[in-house]
Amino acid sequence: MRNEAMKDADLFKFDYFKCLRSDYAKNECSICIDICPENAMVFDRSRLTLDADACTACAACVGGCPTEALVSETFDPNRFVLEFCSQEKKSLSCKENLPCLGALSVEHLAAMVLRKDSEVLCDLSFCSDCHVNRDGTVLKSIEATIDEANAFLEVCGLQKRVQTVCELSEDEPDSGRRNLFKKLASVAREVNEDVTMSELARGDDEREPLKRIILKNSLKMSAQKIRPDIPFKKPFTFAVGKKIDESNCTNCQECAMFCPTGALSILRDNTGIVFQVGKCIACSICNDVCKPGSITTDATFDIMDFAFDRMELLVKHTLEICTECKVAFPYRGGDKICDRCKDFKENFSDIFTMAKDM
Ligand code: SF4
Ligand code: SF4
Ligand code: SF4
Repeated sequence: MRNEAMKDADLFKFDYFKCLRSDYAKNECSICIDICPENAMVFDRSRLTLDADACTACAACVGGCPTEALVSETFDPNRFVLEFCSQEKKSLSCKENLPCLGALSVEHLAAMVLRKDSEVLCDLSFCSDCHVNRDGTVLKSIEATIDEANAFLEVCGLQKRVQTVCELSEDEPDSGRRNLFKKLASVAREVNEDVTMSELARGDDEREPLKRIILKNSLKMSAQKIRPDIPFKKPFTFAVGKKIDESNCTNCQECAMFCPTGALSILRDNTGIVFQVGKCIACSICNDVCKPGSITTDATFDIMDFAFDRMELLVKHTLEICTECKVAFPYRGGDKICDRCKDFKENFSDIFTMAKDM
């Protein structure tokens, strides 16, 4: 579905149903808004709208969106990554092959290093003076993305990294909206349509971002070289592990129902929750919806579990029928009475006593 304001701009497709804010009304994702150097994006009653006159089509917001809800009409980063990996070229530059390095995510950069099995060079020499980087936000974001991609390659036990070049080239960076439009269009034309990229073909109902599938496929291709016992220095922004405390989980299953990518799912017999870290995008919606606070984030995860979409059982309950309300509940011993009925009895016992006495 395309947002009307986006349609006017004819620069982006916005899939309202993929945006985290649509999945869960209280979600506060603002990555696209925060990175936009022109303040062209605003949320109006949970709908993202774009000021077409302010937008310079730099595509920096595209790289940051965890769900790929934002898609540039003229630059497809997933297609670009696959194309780039089929070439000898090792450098990425806004002067040569893409509109802005901000259009690439951690997943894209890591996948390129994994597939090429070589260093990948990011040319940042134009960033400081680029009009897109007006208050330094875009460059900061690109640098953070590169650092995180390198941290990910490190925990995979790989030596190759994303490198940066910051020396100013003799050429002047393109400036102005018109030039950026031209660049986007020419990049789109350069894409070799003959290359068969089966990884790009999939149904529209897939909830998992394509960039994630590309990264996982890249890890599988390099599985022999991965040494997954390097400690994590800090949590990643694009995927995290999860734990559920069985002692207070009520088996309400809301975490799985709200999970936007299907990383959490419900056991067929409704007795528990399983998790696939390879599908998690670290949106925290599960933590936010869990009323007893049973689900928590675990910074570390197994790289091979991530790559191969292995399932982890987070919680498994023994269900019994509550003697009061006759509804199944997670039984932890003692009387067969669910927490809700137990609370109700404890909190309102006075009312029943008074009624009896009367
Ligand atoms: S970055 Fe993506 S998910 Fe987040 S608010 Fe923007 S469109 Fe929605
Ligand atoms: S972890 Fe929380 S949201 Fe998920 S089933 Fe348990 S209580 Fe419900
Ligand atoms: S498991 Fe939680 S953090 Fe991960 S994608 Fe699902 S809702 Fe988001």
